[in-house]
Amino acid sequence: MNLLTDPWIPVREQGKPSAQKLTLRQLLCEDTKWELCLPRDDMEMAALQLLVCMAQTLATPADLRALKQLISKPFVELQFDDGCKLCADWFRIDHPQSPFMQVRGVKANEPTPMDKLLAGVTGATNSCFVNPAGLGEALCSGCTAIALFNQAMNVPGFGGGFKASLRSSAPVTTLVQGEHLRQTIWLNVLTSEGIERLLPWHRKTEGQQPTWIEPIKSETFSATSIGFLRGLFWQPAHIELLPAQAGGNCSCCGHKNTEVHHGFNKAKFNYTVTGIWPHPHGARTMTLKKGEQEEKYLSFTTSAPSWTQLGRFVVRREVDDAKNPGQEPAAVIRQAQELGVRLTLCIGGYRNNQASILARRHELLSLGEGWNAKPVIVQEVVDTAIGYRDALNKALFTFFKGGGHKGAGVPVHETGKVQFYRCTEDMILDTLAGLDFTNPAPKISALKEQLHVAVVGLFEESVRPYMNDPNLIHTMAVSRQTMRKRLKELKPQQEGGADGKGK
Ligand SMILES: [Zn+2]
Repeated sequence: MNLLTDPWIPVREQGKPSAQKLTLRQLLCEDTKWELCLPRDDMEMAALQLLVCMAQTLATPADLRALKQLISKPFVELQFDDGCKLCADWFRIDHPQSPFMQVRGVKANEPTPMDKLLAGVTGATNSCFVNPAGLGEALCSGCTAIALFNQAMNVPGFGGGFKASLRSSAPVTTLVQGEHLRQTIWLNVLTSEGIERLLPWHRKTEGQQPTWIEPIKSETFSATSIGFLRGLFWQPAHIELLPAQAGGNCSCCGHKNTEVHHGFNKAKFNYTVTGIWPHPHGARTMTLKKGEQEEKYLSFTTSAPSWTQLGRFVVRREVDDAKNPGQEPAAVIRQAQELGVRLTLCIGGYRNNQASILARRHELLSLGEGWNAKPVIVQEVVDTAIGYRDALNKALFTFFKGGGHKGAGVPVHETGKVQFYRCTEDMILDTLAGLDFTNPAPKISALKEQLHVAVVGLFEESVRPYMNDPNLIHTMAVSRQTMRKRLKELKPQQEGGADGKGK
Protein backbone atom coordinates (compact mmCIF):
# COMPACT_ATOMS: atom_id res chain seq x y z
CA MET A 1 0.00 0.00 0.00
CA ASN A 2 1.35 3.34 -1.05
CA LEU A 3 0.13 6.35 0.95
CA LEU A 4 0.83 8.58 -2.04
CA THR A 5 -1.45 6.76 -4.46
CA ASP A 6 -3.85 4.38 -2.67
CA PRO A 7 -7.09 5.39 -0.95
CA TRP A 8 -6.39 5.33 2.80
CA ILE A 9 -7.51 8.69 4.19
CA PRO A 10 -10.59 8.12 6.37
CA VAL A 11 -13.01 11.00 5.77
CA ARG A 12 -16.61 12.03 5.45
CA GLU A 13 -18.01 14.94 3.55
CA GLN A 14 -18.89 17.79 5.91
CA GLY A 15 -22.46 17.47 7.07
CA LYS A 16 -22.87 13.94 5.72
CA PRO A 17 -22.78 10.76 7.81
CA SER A 18 -21.14 8.24 5.50
CA ALA A 19 -17.41 7.60 5.73
CA GLN A 20 -15.08 6.73 2.87
CA LYS A 21 -11.39 6.48 2.00
CA LEU A 22 -9.68 9.02 -0.23
CA THR A 23 -6.37 9.15 -2.00
CA LEU A 24 -4.06 12.04 -1.19
CA ARG A 25 -4.54 13.30 -4.73
CA GLN A 26 -8.34 13.44 -4.33
CA LEU A 27 -8.00 15.20 -1.01
CA LEU A 28 -5.53 17.85 -2.18
CA CYS A 29 -6.58 18.40 -5.80
CA GLU A 30 -10.39 18.32 -5.52
CA ASP A 31 -12.63 20.96 -4.07
CA THR A 32 -14.93 18.89 -1.83
CA LYS A 33 -14.97 19.86 1.84
CA TRP A 34 -13.96 16.84 3.90
CA GLU A 35 -13.33 16.11 7.54
CA LEU A 36 -11.44 13.22 9.12
CA CYS A 37 -13.53 10.38 10.43
CA LEU A 38 -12.07 7.82 12.86
CA PRO A 39 -13.44 6.46 16.13
CA ARG A 40 -10.63 7.93 18.21
CA ASP A 41 -9.78 11.63 18.46
CA ASP A 42 -6.06 10.92 18.90
CA MET A 43 -6.00 8.79 15.74
CA GLU A 44 -7.75 11.62 13.87
CA MET A 45 -5.16 14.12 15.05
CA ALA A 46 -2.32 11.73 14.17
CA ALA A 47 -3.85 11.29 10.70
CA LEU A 48 -3.94 15.06 10.33
CA GLN A 49 -0.35 15.40 11.46
CA LEU A 50 0.76 12.70 9.03
CA LEU A 51 -1.12 14.44 6.19
CA VAL A 52 0.52 17.75 7.12
CA CYS A 53 3.97 16.15 6.99
CA MET A 54 3.16 14.51 3.64
CA ALA A 55 1.89 17.79 2.18
CA GLN A 56 5.06 19.45 3.46
CA THR A 57 7.04 16.81 1.57
CA LEU A 58 5.08 17.34 -1.65
CA ALA A 59 5.29 21.11 -1.67
CA THR A 60 6.95 23.69 0.52
CA PRO A 61 5.64 27.16 -0.38
CA ALA A 62 8.39 29.74 -0.70
CA ASP A 63 6.63 32.43 1.31
CA LEU A 64 3.31 33.41 2.89
CA ARG A 65 1.90 34.59 -0.43
CA ALA A 66 2.44 31.16 -1.98
CA LEU A 67 1.07 29.50 1.12
CA LYS A 68 -2.13 31.58 0.99
CA GLN A 69 -2.65 30.32 -2.55
CA LEU A 70 -2.43 26.72 -1.36
CA ILE A 71 -4.81 27.39 1.52
CA SER A 72 -7.44 28.95 -0.70
CA LYS A 73 -7.40 26.77 -3.85
CA PRO A 74 -7.08 23.04 -4.53
CA PHE A 75 -3.68 21.83 -5.61
CA VAL A 76 -3.12 21.58 -9.37
CA GLU A 77 -2.63 17.93 -10.48
CA LEU A 78 0.69 18.80 -12.11
CA GLN A 79 1.99 20.24 -8.85
CA PHE A 80 0.96 17.03 -7.16
CA ASP A 81 2.85 14.93 -9.71
CA ASP A 82 5.89 17.16 -9.36
CA GLY A 83 5.87 16.78 -5.60
CA CYS A 84 5.65 13.00 -5.84
CA LYS A 85 8.84 12.73 -7.92
CA LEU A 86 11.08 13.36 -4.92
CA CYS A 87 9.39 10.94 -2.58
CA ALA A 88 7.80 8.31 -4.85
CA ASP A 89 9.29 5.51 -2.75
CA TRP A 90 8.95 6.97 0.73
CA PHE A 91 5.41 6.05 1.60
CA ARG A 92 4.93 2.36 0.74
CA ILE A 93 4.23 0.47 3.92
CA ASP A 94 5.04 -2.84 2.17
CA HIS A 95 8.13 -1.69 0.27
CA PRO A 96 10.49 -4.71 -0.09
CA GLN A 97 13.60 -2.83 1.12
CA SER A 98 12.49 0.37 2.81
CA PRO A 99 8.90 0.15 4.08
CA PHE A 100 7.35 3.35 5.49
CA MET A 101 8.61 4.02 9.05
CA GLN A 102 10.01 0.48 9.42
CA VAL A 103 13.22 -1.48 8.93
CA ARG A 104 13.51 -4.87 7.28
CA GLY A 105 14.88 -7.85 9.20
CA VAL A 106 13.85 -6.89 12.75
CA LYS A 107 14.71 -9.77 15.07
CA ALA A 108 12.21 -10.28 17.88
CA ASN A 109 11.47 -13.36 19.99
CA GLU A 110 7.79 -13.11 19.22
CA PRO A 111 5.57 -10.74 17.28
CA THR A 112 3.79 -7.91 19.12
CA PRO A 113 0.01 -7.63 18.64
CA MET A 114 -1.27 -4.51 16.84
CA ASP A 115 -2.97 -3.08 19.92
CA LYS A 116 0.50 -2.13 21.22
CA LEU A 117 0.77 0.25 18.30
CA LEU A 118 -2.37 2.10 19.38
CA ALA A 119 -1.59 4.46 22.23
CA GLY A 120 -3.11 3.51 25.56
CA VAL A 121 -5.12 0.51 24.40
CA THR A 122 -3.09 -1.75 26.66
CA GLY A 123 -0.74 -1.15 29.55
CA ALA A 124 -2.67 1.20 31.84
CA THR A 125 -5.13 -0.14 34.38
CA ASN A 126 -7.96 1.98 33.01
CA SER A 127 -7.46 1.00 29.35
CA CYS A 128 -10.24 -1.58 29.33
CA PHE A 129 -12.73 1.07 30.49
CA VAL A 130 -11.93 3.74 27.91
CA ASN A 131 -11.41 1.54 24.86
CA PRO A 132 -13.90 -0.81 23.27
CA ALA A 133 -12.79 -4.45 23.33
CA GLY A 134 -10.74 -5.65 20.39
CA LEU A 135 -9.90 -2.14 19.16
CA GLY A 136 -6.39 -3.08 18.09
CA GLU A 137 -6.92 -6.65 16.94
CA ALA A 138 -6.41 -6.10 13.22
CA LEU A 139 -5.69 -2.83 11.47
CA CYS A 140 -6.11 -1.93 7.82
CA SER A 141 -3.07 -0.48 6.06
CA GLY A 142 -4.31 3.11 6.46
CA CYS A 143 -4.93 2.83 10.20
CA THR A 144 -1.61 0.97 10.53
CA ALA A 145 0.25 3.84 8.87
CA ILE A 146 -1.46 6.38 11.14
CA ALA A 147 -0.70 4.30 14.24
CA LEU A 148 2.95 3.81 13.19
CA PHE A 149 3.35 7.53 12.71
CA ASN A 150 1.61 8.36 16.01
CA GLN A 151 3.74 5.88 17.90
CA ALA A 152 6.90 7.48 16.54
CA MET A 153 5.79 11.11 17.06
CA ASN A 154 3.50 11.43 20.04
CA VAL A 155 3.44 8.34 22.20
CA PRO A 156 5.70 7.64 25.21
CA GLY A 157 7.55 4.82 23.40
CA PHE A 158 7.33 1.13 24.22
CA GLY A 159 9.32 1.54 27.43
CA GLY A 160 12.01 -0.92 28.54
CA GLY A 161 14.88 0.77 26.75
CA PHE A 162 13.05 1.81 23.59
CA LYS A 163 13.77 5.39 22.60
CA ALA A 164 10.99 7.98 22.72
CA SER A 165 10.20 10.50 19.97
CA LEU A 166 12.41 13.46 19.05
CA ARG A 167 10.25 15.58 21.37
CA SER A 168 10.72 13.06 24.21
CA SER A 169 8.06 10.96 25.79
CA ALA A 170 4.56 12.52 25.60
CA PRO A 171 4.64 15.94 23.97
CA VAL A 172 1.60 18.13 23.39
CA THR A 173 0.92 18.78 19.71
CA THR A 174 -0.67 22.06 18.63
CA LEU A 175 -1.98 22.52 15.10
CA VAL A 176 -4.16 25.11 13.42
CA GLN A 177 -7.67 24.06 12.48
CA GLY A 178 -9.17 25.41 9.26
CA GLU A 179 -12.69 25.24 7.87
CA HIS A 180 -12.20 21.87 6.21
CA LEU A 181 -9.50 19.21 5.98
CA ARG A 182 -7.60 20.45 2.91
CA GLN A 183 -7.41 23.95 4.33
CA THR A 184 -6.35 22.62 7.74
CA ILE A 185 -3.50 20.68 6.16
CA TRP A 186 -2.01 23.66 4.34
CA LEU A 187 -2.47 25.94 7.35
CA ASN A 188 0.10 23.71 9.07
CA VAL A 189 2.64 23.50 6.27
CA LEU A 190 5.60 25.78 6.87
CA THR A 191 7.00 28.09 4.22
CA SER A 192 10.70 27.89 3.27
CA GLU A 193 11.19 31.13 5.15
CA GLY A 194 9.55 29.63 8.22
CA ILE A 195 11.68 26.50 8.03
CA GLU A 196 14.90 28.48 7.72
CA ARG A 197 13.98 30.55 10.74
CA LEU A 198 13.23 27.39 12.71
CA LEU A 199 16.21 25.37 11.49
CA PRO A 200 19.13 27.64 10.65
CA TRP A 201 20.84 24.49 9.30
CA HIS A 202 18.00 23.78 6.85
CA ARG A 203 19.87 24.45 3.61
CA LYS A 204 22.72 22.16 4.61
CA THR A 205 20.43 19.26 5.50
CA GLU A 206 17.68 19.68 2.92
CA GLY A 207 18.58 16.64 0.85
CA GLN A 208 18.39 14.13 3.72
CA GLN A 209 16.28 11.00 3.36
CA PRO A 210 13.85 9.73 6.00
CA THR A 211 15.11 7.31 8.65
CA TRP A 212 13.74 4.18 6.94
CA ILE A 213 15.75 4.92 3.81
CA GLU A 214 18.88 6.33 5.40
CA PRO A 215 18.94 4.61 8.84
CA ILE A 216 19.81 6.46 12.04
CA LYS A 217 23.35 5.62 13.09
CA SER A 218 23.85 4.12 16.51
CA GLU A 219 26.00 6.96 17.83
CA THR A 220 25.85 10.40 19.45
CA PHE A 221 24.94 13.28 17.18
CA SER A 222 23.62 16.81 17.45
CA ALA A 223 19.99 17.82 16.86
CA THR A 224 21.38 20.41 14.46
CA SER A 225 22.44 17.62 12.11
CA ILE A 226 18.82 16.52 11.56
CA GLY A 227 17.09 17.92 8.49
CA PHE A 228 13.51 19.17 8.42
CA LEU A 229 11.69 16.33 6.66
CA ARG A 230 13.89 13.71 8.29
CA GLY A 231 12.90 15.09 11.70
CA LEU A 232 9.21 15.29 10.77
CA PHE A 233 9.20 11.54 10.10
CA TRP A 234 11.73 10.48 12.75
CA GLN A 235 11.25 6.84 13.71
CA PRO A 236 13.10 6.11 16.99
CA ALA A 237 12.31 2.37 17.14
CA HIS A 238 12.99 -0.57 14.91
CA ILE A 239 9.64 -1.89 13.76
CA GLU A 240 8.65 -4.29 11.02
CA LEU A 241 5.03 -5.12 10.27
CA LEU A 242 4.17 -8.75 9.65
CA PRO A 243 2.77 -9.21 6.14
CA ALA A 244 -0.86 -8.12 5.77
CA GLN A 245 -3.58 -10.71 5.35
CA ALA A 246 -6.40 -10.31 2.89
CA GLY A 247 -10.09 -10.43 3.70
CA GLY A 248 -10.06 -8.99 7.23
CA ASN A 249 -11.99 -6.24 9.00
CA CYS A 250 -10.22 -3.24 10.49
CA SER A 251 -11.02 -2.99 14.19
CA CYS A 252 -10.26 0.75 14.21
CA CYS A 253 -11.99 2.36 11.21
CA GLY A 254 -14.36 -0.53 10.55
CA HIS A 255 -13.27 -1.04 6.93
CA LYS A 256 -14.51 -4.47 5.84
CA ASN A 257 -12.97 -7.21 3.73
CA THR A 258 -9.63 -5.53 3.29
CA GLU A 259 -5.93 -6.24 3.90
CA VAL A 260 -5.21 -6.12 7.62
CA HIS A 261 -2.15 -6.33 9.83
CA HIS A 262 -2.22 -8.56 12.91
CA GLY A 263 1.17 -7.84 14.40
CA PHE A 264 4.68 -6.51 14.09
CA ASN A 265 8.20 -7.19 15.27
CA LYS A 266 10.03 -4.62 17.32
CA ALA A 267 13.59 -4.29 18.57
CA LYS A 268 15.46 -1.82 20.73
CA PHE A 269 17.83 0.53 19.07
CA ASN A 270 20.10 3.02 20.71
CA TYR A 271 21.47 6.44 19.81
CA THR A 272 21.88 9.81 21.53
CA VAL A 273 20.75 13.19 20.26
CA THR A 274 22.32 16.18 21.95
CA GLY A 275 20.30 19.38 22.11
CA ILE A 276 16.66 19.75 21.20
CA TRP A 277 15.25 19.45 17.68
CA PRO A 278 12.83 22.33 16.97
CA HIS A 279 9.75 20.37 15.92
CA PRO A 280 7.22 22.73 14.26
CA HIS A 281 4.14 21.14 15.90
CA GLY A 282 4.99 21.61 19.57
CA ALA A 283 5.51 24.47 22.03
CA ARG A 284 8.62 24.60 24.16
CA THR A 285 9.56 26.22 27.45
CA MET A 286 12.98 27.49 28.41
CA THR A 287 14.12 27.66 32.01
CA LEU A 288 17.34 28.86 33.56
CA LYS A 289 18.89 26.36 35.91
CA LYS A 290 22.17 27.28 37.57
CA GLY A 291 22.84 29.74 34.81
CA GLU A 292 22.19 27.22 32.05
CA GLN A 293 19.22 27.30 29.76
CA GLU A 294 17.13 24.15 29.75
CA GLU A 295 14.63 23.64 27.00
CA LYS A 296 11.79 21.14 26.75
CA TYR A 297 8.53 20.42 24.97
CA LEU A 298 5.26 21.01 26.76
CA SER A 299 3.38 18.00 27.98
CA PHE A 300 0.27 17.38 30.06
CA THR A 301 1.80 16.63 33.45
CA THR A 302 -1.32 17.25 35.55
CA SER A 303 -5.05 16.92 35.09
CA ALA A 304 -5.44 20.72 34.77
CA PRO A 305 -7.39 21.69 31.63
CA SER A 306 -5.58 22.81 28.49
CA TRP A 307 -6.51 26.49 28.83
CA THR A 308 -4.09 26.77 31.76
CA GLN A 309 -1.27 26.24 29.21
CA LEU A 310 -2.82 28.30 26.44
CA GLY A 311 -0.42 31.21 26.98
CA ARG A 312 2.49 28.90 26.25
CA PHE A 313 0.79 27.66 23.10
CA VAL A 314 0.46 31.11 21.55
CA VAL A 315 2.62 33.71 23.30
CA ARG A 316 6.35 33.95 22.74
CA ARG A 317 8.44 35.09 25.68
CA GLU A 318 12.19 35.34 26.19
CA VAL A 319 13.66 33.66 29.22
CA ASP A 320 14.44 36.41 31.75
CA ASP A 321 15.75 34.77 34.86
CA ALA A 322 15.26 31.64 36.93
CA LYS A 323 11.78 32.81 38.00
CA ASN A 324 10.48 33.82 34.59
CA PRO A 325 10.79 30.98 32.10
CA GLY A 326 10.67 31.62 28.39
CA GLN A 327 8.15 30.10 26.05
CA GLU A 328 8.17 29.40 22.33
CA PRO A 329 4.91 28.46 20.57
CA ALA A 330 4.95 25.85 17.80
CA ALA A 331 6.23 27.26 14.51
CA VAL A 332 2.87 26.55 12.83
CA ILE A 333 1.11 28.72 15.43
CA ARG A 334 3.58 31.56 14.88
CA GLN A 335 3.00 31.22 11.17
CA ALA A 336 -0.78 31.44 11.70
CA GLN A 337 -0.10 34.62 13.63
CA GLU A 338 1.70 36.06 10.61
CA LEU A 339 -1.02 34.86 8.25
CA GLY A 340 -3.49 36.73 10.40
CA VAL A 341 -6.06 33.93 10.35
CA ARG A 342 -8.59 33.52 13.11
CA LEU A 343 -7.16 30.84 15.35
CA THR A 344 -8.81 27.60 16.21
CA LEU A 345 -6.18 25.61 17.98
CA CYS A 346 -6.19 21.86 17.76
CA ILE A 347 -4.47 20.50 20.88
CA GLY A 348 -3.61 16.89 21.55
CA GLY A 349 -1.45 14.81 23.82
CA TYR A 350 -1.23 12.01 26.32
CA ARG A 351 -0.64 12.13 30.04
CA ASN A 352 1.69 9.31 30.92
CA ASN A 353 3.58 7.57 33.64
CA GLN A 354 6.64 6.33 31.75
CA ALA A 355 5.40 3.92 29.06
CA SER A 356 1.89 3.73 30.46
CA ILE A 357 -0.75 6.22 29.28
CA LEU A 358 -3.03 7.60 31.99
CA ALA A 359 -5.22 9.82 29.85
CA ARG A 360 -5.48 11.26 26.37
CA ARG A 361 -6.68 14.72 25.66
CA HIS A 362 -7.61 16.15 22.28
CA GLU A 363 -9.57 19.35 21.97
CA LEU A 364 -10.19 22.57 20.08
CA LEU A 365 -9.73 26.08 21.53
CA SER A 366 -10.69 29.25 19.66
CA LEU A 367 -9.34 32.77 19.89
CA GLY A 368 -11.29 35.84 18.84
CA GLU A 369 -10.60 38.31 16.06
CA GLY A 370 -7.28 40.16 16.20
CA TRP A 371 -5.44 37.72 18.50
CA ASN A 372 -2.44 37.75 16.21
CA ALA A 373 -1.71 41.44 16.79
CA LYS A 374 -1.81 41.05 20.57
CA PRO A 375 -1.29 37.43 21.60
CA VAL A 376 -0.05 38.67 24.96
CA ILE A 377 -3.70 39.33 25.88
CA VAL A 378 -4.27 35.57 25.77
CA GLN A 379 -1.66 35.28 28.49
CA GLU A 380 -3.42 38.03 30.43
CA VAL A 381 -6.75 36.19 30.33
CA VAL A 382 -5.11 32.91 31.36
CA ASP A 383 -3.17 34.62 34.18
CA THR A 384 -6.36 36.33 35.34
CA ALA A 385 -8.24 33.03 35.54
CA ILE A 386 -5.30 31.36 37.28
CA GLY A 387 -5.27 34.25 39.77
CA TYR A 388 -8.88 33.43 40.75
CA ARG A 389 -8.10 29.74 40.94
CA ASP A 390 -5.20 30.49 43.27
CA ALA A 391 -7.33 32.83 45.41
CA LEU A 392 -9.74 29.97 46.05
CA ASN A 393 -6.92 27.53 46.53
CA LYS A 394 -5.09 29.74 49.04
CA ALA A 395 -8.26 30.35 51.07
CA LEU A 396 -9.21 26.67 51.17
CA PHE A 397 -5.65 25.66 51.96
CA THR A 398 -5.75 28.01 54.94
CA PHE A 399 -9.00 26.36 55.99
CA PHE A 400 -7.38 22.92 55.66
CA LYS A 401 -4.24 23.79 57.62
CA GLY A 402 -5.70 26.34 60.03
CA GLY A 403 -2.84 28.84 59.83
CA GLY A 404 -2.09 28.99 63.58
CA HIS A 405 -5.56 27.76 64.62
CA LYS A 406 -7.26 24.43 64.29
CA GLY A 407 -7.58 23.43 60.62
CA ALA A 408 -10.25 21.27 59.01
CA GLY A 409 -7.65 18.57 58.36
CA VAL A 410 -9.35 17.64 55.10
CA PRO A 411 -7.67 18.81 51.86
CA VAL A 412 -10.71 20.77 50.67
CA HIS A 413 -8.46 22.88 48.45
CA GLU A 414 -7.85 19.92 46.18
CA THR A 415 -11.52 19.23 45.49
CA GLY A 416 -12.00 22.99 45.31
CA LYS A 417 -9.52 23.21 42.45
CA VAL A 418 -11.22 20.42 40.52
CA GLN A 419 -14.59 22.15 41.02
CA PHE A 420 -13.11 25.47 39.91
CA TYR A 421 -11.88 23.93 36.64
CA ARG A 422 -15.22 22.22 36.08
CA CYS A 423 -17.41 25.25 36.57
CA THR A 424 -15.22 27.96 34.98
CA GLU A 425 -13.89 26.22 31.86
CA ASP A 426 -16.77 27.27 29.62
CA MET A 427 -16.71 30.91 30.72
CA ILE A 428 -12.95 31.14 30.14
CA LEU A 429 -13.11 29.48 26.71
CA ASP A 430 -16.12 31.58 25.69
CA THR A 431 -14.29 34.74 26.72
CA LEU A 432 -11.25 33.80 24.64
CA ALA A 433 -13.32 32.86 21.61
CA GLY A 434 -15.44 36.01 21.74
CA LEU A 435 -12.71 38.46 22.72
CA ASP A 436 -12.18 41.57 20.65
CA PHE A 437 -8.43 41.85 20.96
CA THR A 438 -8.43 45.50 19.99
CA ASN A 439 -10.65 46.28 22.97
CA PRO A 440 -10.37 43.41 25.44
CA ALA A 441 -11.12 45.31 28.66
CA PRO A 442 -14.94 44.90 28.74
CA LYS A 443 -14.82 41.13 28.23
CA ILE A 444 -11.97 40.64 30.70
CA SER A 445 -13.89 42.73 33.21
CA ALA A 446 -17.00 40.61 32.70
CA LEU A 447 -14.93 37.45 33.08
CA LYS A 448 -13.50 38.73 36.38
CA GLU A 449 -17.04 39.36 37.54
CA GLN A 450 -18.06 35.78 36.72
CA LEU A 451 -14.92 34.26 38.23
CA HIS A 452 -15.41 36.33 41.38
CA VAL A 453 -18.93 34.94 41.83
CA ALA A 454 -17.71 31.41 41.08
CA VAL A 455 -14.87 31.56 43.61
CA VAL A 456 -17.08 32.93 46.40
CA GLY A 457 -19.70 30.27 45.64
CA LEU A 458 -17.17 27.44 45.58
CA PHE A 459 -15.57 28.62 48.79
CA GLU A 460 -18.88 28.69 50.65
CA GLU A 461 -19.85 25.32 49.22
CA SER A 462 -16.55 23.80 50.37
CA VAL A 463 -16.74 25.08 53.96
CA ARG A 464 -20.49 24.60 54.46
CA PRO A 465 -20.19 21.04 55.87
CA TYR A 466 -18.05 22.47 58.72
CA MET A 467 -20.41 25.35 59.55
CA ASN A 468 -21.54 23.83 62.85
CA ASP A 469 -18.11 22.89 64.14
CA PRO A 470 -17.33 25.46 66.88
CA ASN A 471 -13.61 24.69 66.65
CA LEU A 472 -13.48 25.86 63.06
CA ILE A 473 -15.36 29.16 63.34
CA HIS A 474 -12.18 31.14 63.68
CA THR A 475 -10.36 29.33 60.87
CA MET A 476 -13.34 29.78 58.61
CA ALA A 477 -13.35 33.52 59.24
CA VAL A 478 -9.59 33.76 58.63
CA SER A 479 -9.75 31.82 55.37
CA ARG A 480 -12.77 33.83 54.16
CA GLN A 481 -10.75 36.94 54.94
CA THR A 482 -7.83 35.53 52.91
CA MET A 483 -10.14 34.97 49.97
CA ARG A 484 -11.65 38.48 50.14
CA LYS A 485 -8.21 40.06 50.27
CA ARG A 486 -7.05 38.07 47.26
CA LEU A 487 -10.21 38.83 45.30
CA LYS A 488 -9.85 42.51 46.04
CA GLU A 489 -6.34 42.49 44.64
CA LEU A 490 -7.62 40.80 41.49
CA LYS A 491 -10.46 43.23 40.87
CA PRO A 492 -10.14 46.46 42.76
CA GLN A 493 -13.50 48.20 43.40
CA GLN A 494 -14.07 51.72 42.10
CA GLU A 495 -12.41 51.22 38.81
CA GLY A 496 -13.76 54.46 37.36
CA GLY A 497 -14.68 52.91 34.00
CA ALA A 498 -11.49 51.69 32.41
CA ASP A 499 -9.99 48.46 33.60
CA GLY A 500 -6.99 49.24 35.79
CA LYS A 501 -4.98 46.34 34.41
CA GLY A 502 -4.17 47.88 31.06
CA LYS A 503 -0.42 47.83 31.26
ZN1 LIG B 1 -8.71 0.99 9.41
